Amino acid sequence: MLLGAPTAYWAVVAGVLGLCLGSFATVVASRWPAGASLVRPRSHCTSCERTLGAAELVPVLSWLALRGRCRGCGAGVSWRYPAIELASGALAAGAIAGFGPTWEGLAAALLGVSLVPVVAIDLEHKLIPDLVVLPAAAVALAVGVAADPARWWVPVAAALGAGGFMFMLWFLYPGGMGFGDVKLALLMGAVLGASVVPALVVAFAGGAALGVALLARFGARARRMAVPFGPFLAAGALVALWWGPSMLGWYAERLG
Ligand SMILES: [Zn+2]
Repeated sequence: MLLGAPTAYWAVVAGVLGLCLGSFATVVASRWPAGASLVRPRSHCTSCERTLGAAELVPVLSWLALRGRCRGCGAGVSWRYPAIELASGALAAGAIAGFGPTWEGLAAALLGVSLVPVVAIDLEHKLIPDLVVLPAAAVALAVGVAADPARWWVPVAAALGAGGFMFMLWFLYPGGMGFGDVKLALLMGAVLGASVVPALVVAFAGGAALGVALLARFGARARRMAVPFGPFLAAGALVALWWGPSMLGWYAERLG
């Protein structure tokens, strides 16, 4: 059986797939917020409109080989493209290296590659892409149920619990966060199960720390600064993915 190959092999396969999904994430990040089609026109230079050749579509390497310039017109190509691709590849490879070629590894890789375009788009546009989050949440629920059918209710309850909690906050403090954060919490619960609790604790602690820092730096003006919350949720999700179970154990010990 192919799954019998060493974990390192599957980590490399996941890394390559992650790079390609990262390349698609750059397309989503540059087109989805403007409502443009994701498939037409084909990838092109935004300066000279030249359609990119196959070699120019190779993630990261093409950017390095061309030293971040368009081959046709020499216009600079943002470092964000290879950065997004690399982050996606590294998160996918790391998930399989850490959790093995298992359902857990698949869910962790799915979470990682989904969070990359979410963070990129939220930082730039203060929007969370439904296009990424909702299908990823549905697949994550299916993977979670497949991983442990007898305890199918764990990912379902965690997704609904985390989503419901965020919905309540969104409802009570409409200016505090966007509805996209509610949907992102669904995805986090579906992948993380009970670890979604420490994920939210880390996210809110990070958001509060930045809020205090902004107040200290800018005083009353800080109140009018809209800070996207998606990157904090993403950071909390990744922390909890790796350390959530031990964090839960720590709480449980102290609560007796
Ligand atoms: Zn060009």
